[in-house]
This record gives sequence, structure tokens and C-alpha cells, in this order.
Amino acid sequence: MELGIRGRWALVCAGSKGLGRGCALALAAQGVNLVITARGREALQRTADEARQRGVEVRAVVGDITTPEGRAEALAAAPQVDLLVTNAGGPPPGDFRDWDETAWLQALRANMLTPIALMRACVDAMAERGFGRVVNITSGAVKAPIEVLGLSNGARAGLTGFVAGLARDPRLAARNVSINNLLPGAFDTERLRATLAAGAARQQRDAAEVIEARRQAIPARRFGTAEEFGAFCAFLCSAQAGYLTGQNLLLDGGAYPGVF
Ligand code: NAP
Repeated sequence: MELGIRGRWALVCAGSKGLGRGCALALAAQGVNLVITARGREALQRTADEARQRGVEVRAVVGDITTPEGRAEALAAAPQVDLLVTNAGGPPPGDFRDWDETAWLQALRANMLTPIALMRACVDAMAERGFGRVVNITSGAVKAPIEVLGLSNGARAGLTGFVAGLARDPRLAARNVSINNLLPGAFDTERLRATLAAGAARQQRDAAEVIEARRQAIPARRFGTAEEFGAFCAFLCSAQAGYLTGQNLLLDGGAYPGVF
């Protein structure tokens, strides 16, 4: 399916590895030019090179997207942002009794205020041009909070509430600007492996056993892949997806047991 976004420019934040990388490569395969960011140079260059093999222009920006400087550099690298994929590392797991205000502010900055600042910088210009797509990578924990990921549950719930209002602003929705959140369940990335290994260590259990138990708890009996995630993100960015806005779309192999 041709997604009708060839030649557009996307900013894919935190795009060197994992889900962000999956989104960047899927968009590149649709002929979208990219600005991709990450803090580490090496993996970012590797992903940029891979995307370039799909025949698009790719600008790799090394920086921390959760800082004003990192965002300014990322935004300045794109001639315009038609498609915005917000993403950043997730907060660490733990016990809420151990989190002070600094820990909370860090989580809010990374997983709520950064996507809001990026949308603020991009959506009005999208509306003026009559086309724009925003995909925020959040988490399945927005629908079914995970106890040890309290920082993530809290910060992402804040973003979700904000997006529900913003996406329905007619100054955006009536100008072909759609804003949606993509909620990953368990995807096979470095973060998932690290989180499961840390959980196993805390419980003094074998990591392979914990990973297998997690897999078996998913009706699909497997973890998702970054390629699947990227393909879905690319569809949300497509010309065809203009009537889909303000939604929270869960990709989790059936793990969430509810009807809605
Ligand atoms: P990942 O494999 O660890 O990849 C994270 C990517 O983000 C890397 O490219 C990393 O590169 C970049 N990054 C992290 N912090 C950054 C920052 N401050 N500025 C710029 N780039 C940054 O993680 P993932 O599994 O793809 O997860 C992506 C997001 O989805 C996270 O917020 C995670 O919590 C959420 N999520 C993931 C899952 C899952 O199963 N994988 C499930 C639910 C939610 P550098 O380290 O070089 O900066």
C-alpha cells in the first residue's frame, strides 16, 4: 500500500534503536526524509545509514531530546516537520517510596513535557500547510498500569490526557493534522530485555525463565517486533489516516484483557 507521504519530512525522536528505529526505517521505506535523534552517535549513524539505503535524505542529530537544546537542534535540522514521532527512553522501574521530586520531574520531562514541547513547536505550522501527523510513543501501561513502572504510569497518563484535548482542537483536526498515541505492549528491544533481566535479578530468578514466563502470558505467545511497530506508525502517518485522531492504539499481542 502506498501511504502517500513520499518526499515528506519526519522528525523521529530517540530513533537509533528499538521502537524509534523501527518507525524511522518504516517511514524511510515509504520515501519519507528523516531527522533522527539519539544521545549515542554510533547506533544513530548505523540507523541513519540503513535508512539512507532506502533512497531518502537522513539527518542524524546527536543530542538529548529531553533538553531544550536537544529539541532545538533536532527541530533546526528539518526543513519542515510534516510527521512527528515523539519518543524517549522510559523511566526506571522501582518503588514509589524511593522517588523524590527530582525523579518525578525527570520522568515528567522525558515522557510528558518533551512531547508537548515538540508538538507545540510543530502543529501550528502543520495546520497552516494543511497536513500533519503526530504519533506519540507511550505505553500499554497507560491502559493497564504496571506497579513497578509508577513513574511511567504517571507521566504518560498526563500526556494522554493532554493529547485527548489537543487532538480535538478544530484548528488542528479541521486542517488535516492528526495526533495519536501508539501504546506498545511487550516488544523485543534492548529496553524490554534490560527491564526483564533487572526484574529477574530483584526476584533472584533466572532471567531466561522470567522472559519465557512473560512471553507465555501474552496470547500471541511472543513479543512484538520493532518492524511491526514501525509499520503501524507509518500507517498512522499516512495520507489515508487523516480521519483517525485523538486515539490510543494498543499493540500488545492481545495482552490487555479488556473490551475497550
Ligand atoms: P530502547 O530499545 O532502549 O531504545 C531507546 C532509544 O531511545 C534509543 O535509540 C536511545 O538511544 C534513545 N533515547 C533514549 N533516551 C533518549 C534521550 N533522552 N534523547 C534522545 N534519544 C534517547 O527502548 P524501546 O524499547 O524502543 O522503548 C522506546 C519507548 O517505548 C520507551 O519510552 C519505553 O519506555 C516505551 N515502551 C517500550 C516497551 C517495549 O516493550 N519495548 C513497552 C512499553 C513502552 P540513546 O540511548 O543513544 O540516546
